[in-house]
Amino acid sequence: MSPKLKIDRQEEPNLTRFVLSGVIDEDADFKSAFNNLKSDAVVIDFGGIELINSCGVREWVQAVQKIPKTLNLIYENCAPRVIEQVNYVANFLGNGKIVSFFAPYYCAKCKKEANALLKVEALRRSLPAKAPTEKCPTCKGAMEFDDIETEYFSFLEND
Ligand SMILES: [Zn+2]
Repeated sequence: MSPKLKIDRQEEPNLTRFVLSGVIDEDADFKSAFNNLKSDAVVIDFGGIELINSCGVREWVQAVQKIPKTLNLIYENCAPRVIEQVNYVANFLGNGKIVSFFAPYYCAKCKKEANALLKVEALRRSLPAKAPTEKCPTCKGAMEFDDIETEYFSFLEND
C-alpha cells in the first residue's frame, strides 16, 4: 500500500502554504484543495512527494489550472519525482515558478543515495546548469550527481 496524498494547508501572513506529501495518483483529490484562496501568494511545498503516476499528473494539471492566474504561485522543495514530471509535462506548473528543488546524489564511498536541496536562482546564473558539488551527509566526501544533468536541469531553461 502506497501512502495516500496528504495536503496540509497553512495560512501565513500574505500567503497560503500547501505542504503535499505521499503519492499523487488516481485517488488524489484536489477538488476543494485550492478553494477560498484569500492571499496574494500561494506556496506549494512538494518536498514529501514520493510518486506521481500518469493519472495523478492529469488530476494535478487540472487542479493547478484552477488557481487564479493573478496569484503569485511558487513551488518549493520539489522532490525528484516532481522534477521528472516538470521536465516531461509542459503545463505541470501552471502559472507557477520553482524556487527550490531536490536533486539526487550518490556517495560512492558510503554506497548511499542522498537528495540535495538546490536553489533555482543560483543555478540559473550559468546555463546550461551543472550539478553543484555536494557533500555526503555521512562521510562529508564529494557525492556524484545521480541523474543526467541535461535532462534533470532542463526545466531551468524555461521561464
Ligand atoms: Zn559518503
